[in-house]
Amino acid sequence: MAEQLDPSVDAQWARVRARLREEYGESAFKSWLKPLTLVLVDEGEVRIAVPTRFMRDWVRSHYSDGILSAWRTENKSVKAVEIIVLTAQSEPARPAPEPVAAPTPMSRNAAKSPFVLRDAPAEREAPEEKEDVSAPLDPRFTFANWVTGKSNEFAAAAARRVAEEAKVPFNPLFLYGGVGLGKTHLMHAIAWHIRKRHPERKVIYLSAEKFMYQFIRAIRFKDTMAFKEQFRSVDVLMIDDVQFISGKDSTQEEFFHTFNALVDQNRQIVLSADKSPSDLEGLEERVKSRLAWGLVADIHPTTYELRLGILQSKAEQMGMGVPPKVLEFLAHKITSNVRELEGALNRINAHATLVGRPISIETAQEVLLDLLRANDRRVTIEEIQKRVAEHYQIRLSDMSSPRRARAVARPRQVAMYLAKQLTTRSLPEIGRKFGGRDHTTVMHAVRKIEELRASDRNFSDDIDLLRRMIET
Ligand code: ADP
Ligand code: MG
Repeated sequence: MAEQLDPSVDAQWARVRARLREEYGESAFKSWLKPLTLVLVDEGEVRIAVPTRFMRDWVRSHYSDGILSAWRTENKSVKAVEIIVLTAQSEPARPAPEPVAAPTPMSRNAAKSPFVLRDAPAEREAPEEKEDVSAPLDPRFTFANWVTGKSNEFAAAAARRVAEEAKVPFNPLFLYGGVGLGKTHLMHAIAWHIRKRHPERKVIYLSAEKFMYQFIRAIRFKDTMAFKEQFRSVDVLMIDDVQFISGKDSTQEEFFHTFNALVDQNRQIVLSADKSPSDLEGLEERVKSRLAWGLVADIHPTTYELRLGILQSKAEQMGMGVPPKVLEFLAHKITSNVRELEGALNRINAHATLVGRPISIETAQEVLLDLLRANDRRVTIEEIQKRVAEHYQIRLSDMSSPRRARAVARPRQVAMYLAKQLTTRSLPEIGRKFGGRDHTTVMHAVRKIEELRASDRNFSDDIDLLRRMIET
C-alpha cells in the first residue's frame, strides 16, 4: 500500500491541508493545523507530528475527524490518522516511542529534522504575526457600554483604576468568573480607555491560547528571544483566559518568566480566568501565589437587577421598543450569563423586524424556546454520567452499580467530580444519583480526582478535554 502512496504523498498532503484550511477557516488553520508535520504514510496509517502534548490533545479532540476525512477524500486507503508529539529534543529518526515502520521516501524526508515544513521559508518570515501580537478589540466592549451591578462592581472598579492610573495600582489585576460574565469586556474596556487617553502607552491584549501558540511557534523556530522581545516594550499586558495555560509545562514556565520580568519592570499586567488563582488546576504553587499578589477580583453570577439593567441598556442601544414586561420576563428566565441574555435580545429583535409584529411575552417565548429550555436545564448529572461512561468505555449502569473494581470505580469518581464542578447539585444529591451513595463518598471522589490531577498531568489534561466536551 505504501508504494502506491509514495509518489504523490506530498501532493496529497498539500491538498489535505488546503481542504482543512477551507473547512476550518484561516485563523484555526494558522493556529492549529498549519503547524502539523507529516511524518509518514504507511499501511493505511497517516502519522502527523505536533510540537507539544497540549497541541496533540487539542488537535486530536478538535480536528482528528476532519483530518481523517480530508485524507480519505484524497486517498481511500487511509484508515487512520495518528497524532504524535515530536519535541525538538526527540531523536529525529524515532519520532515515536514505538518502532516506526520501514521508512517511505516521505518519512526519510521528514527524518532530516523533526520540523521539516514544506513551506518553512514563508512561515519563517511571518512578519504579520510579529507586529500583531495584540488581538483586535471589540468596539462594543467599552466602559460606556458596561452596566455595573452588585455582582461585578468590585471587578469593574478595579478595571477602571488600572485604566485610569498611569502608576500601576496593583499587579497583577486578576479577574475571574464564569463564562459570559464580562471578563473580556472589562479587559477590552481597559485597552480602549488607555488607547484613547494615553496613546503613547503600549497595550497588548491577547488570549492565553494565542500566547501559547506564539510561544510554541517560537520554540519551533528556535526563536524564543524574539518572543520575549515582543513583550518587553509593553506598558500593559493583558492575557485572557489563563486557565488554558495551567498544566502546560513549558508554556507555564515561559508565562511565569514573562510575568516576572514585566512585574519587575513595573509594567501593568491584567489576567482573567474562570477560577481564582488558588483554584486553577495544574498550576505550580509558586505561580499561584504570585498571581494572587496583586488584586484578585471576582465577577459573581448576575443578579436579577443587573440582568434587567443590561437588557434595558442594550435594548436602548439597539433602538428597540421592548415592553418592560418582556425585559422582566427575560431577566427572570435567562439566568445563565450575559452572553445568552444578549443573544436572546438579538433574536427577538431580528424576529420583530422580520415579522413586523410587536414584541410580547408570547412571541419571546416562541422565539426563544430552545434557549429557555436550556436555561431550565443546564448540564445534568445523567449527561455527565453518559459522556464519562462512553469516554472510559464502561456501561452506564456501572455509574450506579456497587462494583468497586478500579476500571469502573475511577470513571465513576471522575463523573462525580465533574458533577460537582459542572452542576449546582449538592454532594448528597450527587451521591443519590450514583446509586444512592453517601455524600462522603462523593467528597472522597472529588478529593481523589483532585489529587490525581495534581500528580498526573496526562490524566489532568484528559479530564479537561472531557469537561470541555461535556460543556459544549
Ligand atoms: P467572559 O469573557 O467573562 O466570558 P464577555 O466579556 O465576553 O464574558 O461578556 C459576554 C457578553 O456579555 C459580551 O457581549 C459583553 O459585552 C456582555 N456583558 C457582560 N457583562 C456585561 C455588563 N456588566 N454590562 C454590559 N455588557 C456585559
Ligand atoms: Mg472571555
